[in-house]
Amino acid sequence: MTPQDRDAPAPENANPNDDAQDAPLAQSRPDFLSRRAFVGTAAIASASLLSAAGALGQSRSDAVAGRAGEYASDPGPENKALLTLNPDSNLPPFTDRGNPAPFWYSFDLTAKRLQGGGWTHQVTEREIAQSKDLAGVNMRLTAGSFRELHWHLADEWAIMLTGKARVSVMQPNGKMFIDDVERGDLWYFPAGYPHSIQGLEGPGCEFLLVFDQGDFSEEDTFLLSETLAHIPPEVIRKNMGWTRAEWDQLPPEALYIFPAELPGSLESDKRFLGSHLETENQYTFHGAMTMKPAAETAGGAARVIDSTNFPVSKNVATGIVTLKPGAIRELHWHPNGSEWQYWIQGKGRMTVTLTGARARTMDFNAGDVGYVPSMAAHYIENTGTEDVIFLEMFKTSQYQSISVNEWISRMPDKMAQAHLKLPVSAIRRVPGGQYTVLPK
Ligand code: MN
Ligand code: MN
Repeated sequence: MTPQDRDAPAPENANPNDDAQDAPLAQSRPDFLSRRAFVGTAAIASASLLSAAGALGQSRSDAVAGRAGEYASDPGPENKALLTLNPDSNLPPFTDRGNPAPFWYSFDLTAKRLQGGGWTHQVTEREIAQSKDLAGVNMRLTAGSFRELHWHLADEWAIMLTGKARVSVMQPNGKMFIDDVERGDLWYFPAGYPHSIQGLEGPGCEFLLVFDQGDFSEEDTFLLSETLAHIPPEVIRKNMGWTRAEWDQLPPEALYIFPAELPGSLESDKRFLGSHLETENQYTFHGAMTMKPAAETAGGAARVIDSTNFPVSKNVATGIVTLKPGAIRELHWHPNGSEWQYWIQGKGRMTVTLTGARARTMDFNAGDVGYVPSMAAHYIENTGTEDVIFLEMFKTSQYQSISVNEWISRMPDKMAQAHLKLPVSAIRRVPGGQYTVLPK
């Protein structure tokens, strides 16, 4: 049972997850249907007391009526597999209204570039049109395989999802940083700094890259191979000292992702660099998923990594949120940017509310991407049976969020009562701080 069910005057806003995990369609579950039909009349009566029909768009009583009886049935063609994963799109809560732009996409629906050594796919502004600030790439490298040495226009933030990799990045002053990363470790490479990623021993690795440009494309990076292949050989001879015969041995086209031998030890690579090893700036961050949380309750935890604890991460701030089953990431918004989400584990839903009384609820699973426009209020609810882990990503140097509960708790009684129309005793039940995650 969701908190809404407990507190609402009528259960017409039941989350389809509660009733129909395996069969979200009203008409395929007679008990679900008849329960809806039964509560429908009462719901209409109570809802019409709360709100008169607006001049524009759908009134609350319209929305409630549309969910009663057989009105929501869908006897025509439908993609049952998709609807099972998206109960809140199939039968939206009665509080949804209007037609906000899509804010969901899944890496599992994207074009996948597969080649010897691994694969890559991306969710960018092309998939979520309103996502202008950040774009994501999910990549796999088997043991020893490289993402070819390259650089690009955007800053690159990354988290290792499984396995291990060795990463390197060279600064403009010629010093190179090199390190090994494993699950929960991050890296950050500023735009234009040349870098490498290589899968290490065992099953290799899979990671998420996030770029501070919504229209970033993994197909549009500067590659070492392509750069050298398009410089006349006589210039290469003057520049590198390589003969024409040696130039002929260079890769004639992109390597991009390719298998290679495992590297030597990290220590030996650092020894090779000697005084050219960068030690001042740390381009990796270890243990982001196990560090001390910025907020923790019985409902879960939120860990924050931004330029205050990871100084090179100048343009990207991150929250790593864990939610226990039934728990919510409390209702909030971010005053300094849009939010790009990546779902690492679990199953949940999010409602995004916009100006003009628009709101939409969508469901998320591992591998999905969510998006929240700047300043739009939203919550995330764990609707599954395992912990949810997701990333909140922002194109900003510092993580910030505004808690609706905290705001309500700061309102003097008369101010709060005038707006909420509730008795003071109810208003003061609101948790009086920014708890970030709230238990079931
Ligand atoms: Mn890169
Ligand atoms: Mn958020």
